[in-house]
Amino acid sequence: TPFVIGIDGPSGSGKSSVSRAVASRLGAGYLDTGAMYRALTWWCRHTEVDLGDAAAITRAALELPLTIGDDPEAPTVLVDGTDVAEAIRTSEISSLVSTIATVPDVRVEMQRRQRALIEDIADRHGACVAEGRDVTTVIAPDAPVRILLTASEEARLRRRSLEVHGASDQAAIEATRDQVVRRDRDDSTVSQFTEAAEGVSVVDTSDLDFEGSVAAVMAIVDA
Ligand code: C5P
Repeated sequence: TPFVIGIDGPSGSGKSSVSRAVASRLGAGYLDTGAMYRALTWWCRHTEVDLGDAAAITRAALELPLTIGDDPEAPTVLVDGTDVAEAIRTSEISSLVSTIATVPDVRVEMQRRQRALIEDIADRHGACVAEGRDVTTVIAPDAPVRILLTASEEARLRRRSLEVHGASDQAAIEATRDQVVRRDRDDSTVSQFTEAAEGVSVVDTSDLDFEGSVAAVMAIVDA
């Protein structure tokens, strides 16, 4: 069986940067499952799908012309040939993505695609690091390495605030709160991070810097 490392966690846990660094160090391929939900959200906006219409969103998920790269150093996302890597990171997409990601039939389709991608990437690179919200529990519950990255709400707000606003003063943190706290709440039917699932190793990054977080994950991978 191909080597799969699943890394889940809430926003601001350091999941994306840590997962990419771990994949690079291992020479593994990489899959950002959140980018797929973001790409679908971008596509729904682009094609003017009514976001109140679950059936229409599901049709869009089935048709989504998505090409996602597997290079952790340059994760590309193409929708119908358009490079959307930056467009899917806007606050507009961030605030809409949970609505789309919580449609049950959308999840079925995205999980089907994600399982196939992980298998293909792991076959081609010998290993795949896949990150998201339900990789360790639903997409790849049998992966040999499954990790939950957590961090206190305070630490997650500080990190996101630095990423998005380049500052972590009180005003910047308040401006970030909606993105982090509300999105976690909206995603809570998808992912509960209060407790790790059986067999999943927890890494709390609250008091770790980037290098420390990568080292903690690598220690689990090497164990
Ligand atoms: O990881 P990221 O913040 O980019 O994920 C964006 C959104 O995609 C999440 O807020 C969640 O709604 C959805 N998502 C999901 N399942 C995953 C990954 C992401 O529902 N495995």
